[in-house]
Amino acid sequence: MQVTFPHIGNAYIGIKSTLESLGTDVVVPPGCTRRTLTLATRYSPEGICLPFKLNLGNMIEAIELGADTIVNITGHGTCRMGYYHKVQEQILRDMGFDFQMELTGLSEHKLTGFFKMLKKISNNASWTQIISAFHFGLAKVTALDDIEIIANRMRAIEKEKGTITLLYREGTKAIDEAGDYRSLKNVVKDYRRRLKGIKILSGVSPLKVLVAGEIYVVLDTYANMDVELEMGKLGVVTERSLYLSRWAKRGLFYNPLGIDQYRKVHKAAMPYLKRDIGGDGWETIGEKVLGTGHYDGMVHLAPFTCMPEETAQNIMSSTKEDLPVLAIYCDEQTSKAGMLTRLEAFVDMLRMKRNRNGSRLLEE
Ligand code: SF4
Repeated sequence: MQVTFPHIGNAYIGIKSTLESLGTDVVVPPGCTRRTLTLATRYSPEGICLPFKLNLGNMIEAIELGADTIVNITGHGTCRMGYYHKVQEQILRDMGFDFQMELTGLSEHKLTGFFKMLKKISNNASWTQIISAFHFGLAKVTALDDIEIIANRMRAIEKEKGTITLLYREGTKAIDEAGDYRSLKNVVKDYRRRLKGIKILSGVSPLKVLVAGEIYVVLDTYANMDVELEMGKLGVVTERSLYLSRWAKRGLFYNPLGIDQYRKVHKAAMPYLKRDIGGDGWETIGEKVLGTGHYDGMVHLAPFTCMPEETAQNIMSSTKEDLPVLAIYCDEQTSKAGMLTRLEAFVDMLRMKRNRNGSRLLEE
């Protein structure tokens, strides 16, 4: 059995580690490229959202490399996500591929659905092995988020442009290669120290921008055209509304008491929207409300045709909380040059606003 799974930003590193710890043969799809997107758009329904297309592209390229089993991320809710796997499976079969698809069932069964899928593809590994493999995979994802948070903070104030990105990429590779907890801990310690130790510009007070929106485009740098890196180059510190490790810890575990793990953000969104509308739309509105006063602005990332994020975008324009929002819709038609022009104009506008008001954020 040769198992593959979609890339989804750095998520593939955690999934790969979990599967390899269980002795499963893994085919990591090549990182998303123009080819991935071209293949994906050729075979996907035209109006479907970008995560569907890029995931399909990953699957096609992995099958070409010999994968015969696809682990697919599924979930139900009020958007199209629930049907994705059925349509993707049918498209791949129509293309003549022979494979089996294993579903994670995250929405319905949370972690147990994921564990049951792991048991099946690992040829009946023991529950202890499965829990320990998952734990190590999650530790890697947490480590990746740790160094990415520092990188996105430091990039804006680095003296020698490009140093942080180089270090961050090295760190990502080292985390991917770490074989046990001890080496993982050492890698994180080493790269935290090196990232924090770079030479920085003195006397600058960089703009701080929140990056929020639909989970896939927030996490995947190919899908969002490296928006955080580009903002860092413009001297802007970015923070995200969601990181995979935090999302996994909040979203994958059963919650027998029915406590809303996103209570704070949902409560903030309540005056404008009182219910879940699928995907991350409800949370996006709450993030804007909570972010006002703490950030200079917000970049709202949404896949083109994503219903929850389009709804959120329309609601956000009329909240009384006055945080400037730049909406970036991502799909195969979006050009990076166009995105950069808008980003530069947005950052200029935020700078002018800051200079004009002499405003200070609550948490500088
Ligand atoms: S949240 Fe948006 S992008 Fe994600 S599956 Fe639903 S409609 Fe598509």
